[in-house]
Amino acid sequence: MEAGEGKQDSSPTKRTLAGVVSALSEAYGPRGWWPLPSRAGLDGRDADGYLPGPSETLASGGGRAVSLRRFEIACAAVLAQNTAWTGAARSLTALAAAGYLEPERLASAEPAALEAAIRPAGTFRLKGRYLRALAEAWLRIDSGTPRRDELLALPGVGPETADCILVYCHSTPVFIADAYARRVLSRLGLLPDGLGYEAARRLVEPACPPDAAWQAEAHALLVEHAKRRCRARPLCAGCPLGSPCPG
Ligand code: SF4
Repeated sequence: MEAGEGKQDSSPTKRTLAGVVSALSEAYGPRGWWPLPSRAGLDGRDADGYLPGPSETLASGGGRAVSLRRFEIACAAVLAQNTAWTGAARSLTALAAAGYLEPERLASAEPAALEAAIRPAGTFRLKGRYLRALAEAWLRIDSGTPRRDELLALPGVGPETADCILVYCHSTPVFIADAYARRVLSRLGLLPDGLGYEAARRLVEPACPPDAAWQAEAHALLVEHAKRRCRARPLCAGCPLGSPCPG
């Protein structure tokens, strides 16, 4: 099935994934992901660490500074699991202040100090173990572009976290089929209801442009739309995707 197939087009918005992303971009503007709290106010980033323009994808290599940015994004993807971004962002700020956003230092961090830093992100003992494992593996997996199965073998790295790392840290064009994307796309009739992460990713990805920057911005825009409007109880009046949804 093509990601554009499904129920009939019943809105001014062309019901294809490309049309949805384009309409969301027009409505919300560039998202400037991935936010890096440790770089807030630097490199043109705003006070929350967002970039001023479209979302950025990093490439493998690029020296120590770029590797550390990749590492912060990877830590952020772990910390953001099952919690609000604000808690993850506070944890990243605390990690930066403690010098733990360097893999060598985080790998040898004293557990109590690490857990104290990441307490705002919730489940801090578990996430502390995940971050230490990520840090221990980082120098190996960040030496080139990691394979998806290599990332998935790390504790605490599921498909969504792995795909975020691949897109934002290694410019690999995969579709991040998180719960927000699945909710929006199923309501639009672009995905069947009730699909899990992998089934949705496999269905949508072939219909996407082979472009990591597009995937990065598409993910950020779908998250924005799901949080602003397409919530559990959607705010459909004035939706930039046109309402009503067919679903
Ligand atoms: S907010 Fe409403 S109209 Fe917009 S995509 Fe969600 S369900 Fe459809």
